[in-house]
Amino acid sequence: MLKHKTSVLFADTKGKGKKTIQIPTSILLHWKKYLLIAATVFLGFGLVIAFFIYENTSNYYTTIYKEKLARANQIKNAIDIEKAKQSFESINQSMDRINRFMEDRGLTPLDFENAGGPVEFEVTDINEIAELYAEDIQKMESLIKNTPIGKPHEGEQTSHFGVRHNPFGGGGFEGHKGVDLRGEIGEPIRSTAGGTVEFAGRKGGYGNCVVIRHKNDFKTLYGHLSEINVKEGQKVKSGEIIGKLGSTGRSTGPHVHYEIIRGDEKINPQEYLNL
Ligand SMILES: [Zn+2]
Repeated sequence: MLKHKTSVLFADTKGKGKKTIQIPTSILLHWKKYLLIAATVFLGFGLVIAFFIYENTSNYYTTIYKEKLARANQIKNAIDIEKAKQSFESINQSMDRINRFMEDRGLTPLDFENAGGPVEFEVTDINEIAELYAEDIQKMESLIKNTPIGKPHEGEQTSHFGVRHNPFGGGGFEGHKGVDLRGEIGEPIRSTAGGTVEFAGRKGGYGNCVVIRHKNDFKTLYGHLSEINVKEGQKVKSGEIIGKLGSTGRSTGPHVHYEIIRGDEKINPQEYLNL
């Protein structure tokens, strides 16, 4: 049918500029049908193009999502949960040991927030657990800093806590309620814990003496000083110089007499001297 053609003559009203074109006869007869086909094809192309655009843009977001997922997995794998559990267990055990050690020395054991420790936890809990440990370790640090630990002076220990021969001779025994550390006159004497100076001055046989009040009902006493460097009511830190070594009071030679008092009782400082 398409082969059959019809000649169409284009001419203006004056009959000039004539032009003849040949158009397949069927198009002239069925133009509505061909227009519909053309419109359908056009619409079809439009849909295909829209689909490709959609595909490409959604691929873009899928790629970002996949990248993020990969990164998350990478982080998850980097945190070895088993190793983290072991580390936390180990920290727990150390903290328990320190706590028992302090308890043996008459301190109230610390109440740790994560007592017992984390047995099962997820990666997402790690921040929370780490925060708990940070808090607990701060408590421990504060307790240790405020407990008389270590020596007020690094000199040789010449006398122990307990019964001893009268150092002034003449026979007999006496109770020695502290330890003596020998040194040179003028060497610094340091507070063994943070606290408040309760007494600073002359105190009988102790000579020039400093008494510091600490937390948990502890006090420390430093005797025979040649010089006192603190005032009553003054706050001191652990390790702060409070005076100078001397031989004032009832003393046979330059040394510091050191006592730890818990409540009303003078206790043996020996266990506190070395951790
Ligand atoms: Zn002494």
